[in-house]
Amino acid sequence: MKTLLILGAGTGGTMVANKMVHELDSREWEIIIVDRDETHYYQPGLLFIPFGIYNPRDVEKPKRDFIPLNVNLILSDIELIEPEKNRVQLSKDKQIINYDYLVIATGSHIQPKETEGLLDGGGWRKNIFDFYSPDGAADLARFLKFWKGGRMVVNVSEMPIKCPVAPLEFLFLADWFFHERGIRDQVEIVYATPLDGAFTKPRASEILGGMLEKKNINLEPEFNIGEVDNKKQVIRSWDEREISYDLLVSIPTNMGAEVIGRSGLGDELNFVPVDKHTLQSSAWENIWVIGDAGNAPTSKAGSVAHFMLDVLIDNMLRHMEGLELLAEFDGHANCFIESGFEQGILIDFNYDVEPLPGKYPLPGLGPFSLLKESPSNHWGKMMFRWMYWNILLKGGEMPFESQMTMAGKWQ
Ligand SMILES: Cc1cc2nc3c(=O)[nH]c(=O)nc-3n(C[C@H](O)[C@H](O)[C@H](O)COP(=O)(O)OP(=O)(O)OC[C@H]3O[C@@H](n4cnc5c(N)ncnc54)[C@H](O)[C@@H]3O)c2cc1C
Repeated sequence: MKTLLILGAGTGGTMVANKMVHELDSREWEIIIVDRDETHYYQPGLLFIPFGIYNPRDVEKPKRDFIPLNVNLILSDIELIEPEKNRVQLSKDKQIINYDYLVIATGSHIQPKETEGLLDGGGWRKNIFDFYSPDGAADLARFLKFWKGGRMVVNVSEMPIKCPVAPLEFLFLADWFFHERGIRDQVEIVYATPLDGAFTKPRASEILGGMLEKKNINLEPEFNIGEVDNKKQVIRSWDEREISYDLLVSIPTNMGAEVIGRSGLGDELNFVPVDKHTLQSSAWENIWVIGDAGNAPTSKAGSVAHFMLDVLIDNMLRHMEGLELLAEFDGHANCFIESGFEQGILIDFNYDVEPLPGKYPLPGLGPFSLLKESPSNHWGKMMFRWMYWNILLKGGEMPFESQMTMAGKWQ
């Protein structure tokens, strides 16, 4: 019997399990998936919790519901990956699993301890919050419900972060939320980012930057945070700039899983070096990487994990048959950007093409508008939760192609 071992039962790992169970003969292969956590969180939904649009229960389901019956789900921490021995150590019962093929899908996670004073300066979860974790989003919701106003600073510690548009969505929704509560004129909103503009890609950055300005949100670009001084209530950059806050919403450093670092498999942020077109590990030919865990220079997003899926599955199967790999992953990313007041924007891009205006997915028809606010983009974002639980995670067909297309895009 051969073993396909999948590490991580989040977005990427769950999709791989659901696809591979149909591809591999169960008389020859055992499929095992390991995760420490029994609960699957729909992470895009965390954005809505601070504003009371979702409550924490709306983004949780048991992981077991999404893992096929003939895949062995083990709930345990992963201790160590030993690629030279083709084995993985778990903390539960000190179990050792030998594998023939390994898929790493351990994602990325916030590490607030990486920024001096953020976690240990006395303000964490008092007047300093994150919304990238279920607890953080829920605590921030409790805080915002009763907040009377002041200076709210949203700060990205360093790039890359997962869902790089989420901080912008948070800002747009905050503007809407404070309007709804009738206190917008009592809240000053500041966005301090290490980027030189609102976003990484020039055309989208210009449009999104314009939206920040229109909504009276102040942008502080090229702000590389050195420390949080919660006594003075300022964040301080390496070049000694200070920004004062009453409420700090931080998107802390995002890093790959600690087990990747412990196992010597990652770069300085614990992301696994991977061939950006084939999704095979750069170091080990029987190791494959999906989603946020790898260092492919595209967005860390659920949509990206989904666009990686078919290429990764095809290449693993081709490798099993001794065939040449196909270099077909093009970095395709697709993100709905909630912009408040029941409007949204959609961006679609890849390694080579930045977000352009147009219609998506049907050229000329849409219903979604690219790089432009529209109510249908907002409804697309809201419907996505249903599609995630019912189609995407189960490896079903989505109406979006894995490779980006220029059809429907205007140059
Ligand atoms: C606030 C927010 C908003 C977002 N919005 C969007 C959006 O609008 N659109 C979009 O496409 N994406 C969005 N994302 C990003 C998206 O959720 C992630 O990119 C996606 O879930 C990545 O999938 P993954 O499989 O790589 O990792 P994950 O889904 O995070 O899964 C990783 C799994 O590995 C497990 N694991 C890690 N280490 C260990 C260990 N040592 N032992 C055992 N188990 C371990 C974890 O428990 C976890 O279940 C958002 C994310 C956040 C936080």
